[in-house]
Amino acid sequence: MENCPEQQPLFTFGVIADIQYADLVDGSNYTRTRKRYYRSSLQLLKNALKSWNEAAVKPEFIIQLGDIIDGFNKNHDASDRALDTVLSEFSSGPAEVHHVWGNHEFYNFSRSALLRSRLNSTLHTERSVNAAPADSEIYAYSFSPVPGFTFVILDGYDVGLLGREESSQQYKDSLSLIRQHNPNEDLNCPVFKGMEERYTMFNGGFSKVQLDWFDSVLSLADEKQEKVTIVSHLPVHPRSTTPICLAWNYDELLSIIRSHSCAVCFMAGHDHDGGYHRDKKGGVHHLTLEGVIETPPDGNAFATVSVYEDRMELRGYGRVRDRVLMFAQDKSNIVNAMTGLQIS
Ligand SMILES: [Zn+2]
Repeated sequence: MENCPEQQPLFTFGVIADIQYADLVDGSNYTRTRKRYYRSSLQLLKNALKSWNEAAVKPEFIIQLGDIIDGFNKNHDASDRALDTVLSEFSSGPAEVHHVWGNHEFYNFSRSALLRSRLNSTLHTERSVNAAPADSEIYAYSFSPVPGFTFVILDGYDVGLLGREESSQQYKDSLSLIRQHNPNEDLNCPVFKGMEERYTMFNGGFSKVQLDWFDSVLSLADEKQEKVTIVSHLPVHPRSTTPICLAWNYDELLSIIRSHSCAVCFMAGHDHDGGYHRDKKGGVHHLTLEGVIETPPDGNAFATVSVYEDRMELRGYGRVRDRVLMFAQDKSNIVNAMTGLQIS
């Protein structure tokens, strides 16, 4: 960074996680160990939008990592009103928003309602997108903001109990899967047994249809030698979060990511404490962004990411720390470098 102070990024984007807005007095998390600032989260979103609006290089887009409004809105019949409030703030921002779906989206809305809603970004983007098969009802798609770079939005609740009709085959299959790992009557209560903790109702996973689609997107990106950032509400690397926040079949997704040289970064929310780990297999950066909802009113939790040919520079605000995410040298470059050495 110090060697090239004048270098302009190819593009920038904003990222923010777990706003969980509700017009309610402050509360706490399930275990009552953390405070949740339901109203203040809107002000923290305004802070982020102000920063992006005033940036010298305006973001090309903003990624909202899921849990945009809190599930408590549903109890107060306030889901639509809360969503209106947050989306009207986002509309004052400098760029279009790519919405990811988290567990709180499903506490408020059914999957079929979400697919028709303003939170289905494939309906509202002016960019061309490559979406998962339409008949699958999976909310996953990819887009390329700048040639050479692709972003993939994944659906972490494609397999899961949330948002599905109890009569549906997907619900029945997911219930059978979770029951194999979690004998508790309340399926929001985890089994405290290491990695098994992830089998709770507030998590979910990726179906074979989505995994196959994802694999094909990455194969195409490999061929085109693109750099791919993957986005999901649920983290998939055990060292980037705690087991209680991992996707059910995180291992299957991780193995696909590891098999493609195009993957450079994986961004998630859901774990309000945040996390980071650089995978030793392939060098992909796994970033879990700190959640707005558990950030005190005098703090902040968002980031602006500047993308260069060889790296992404994440400028964090408040609880989010700055990071330089270098891209792993790809195999073709390694081969070229070795050939060059041999010739000389
Ligand atoms: Zn969540």
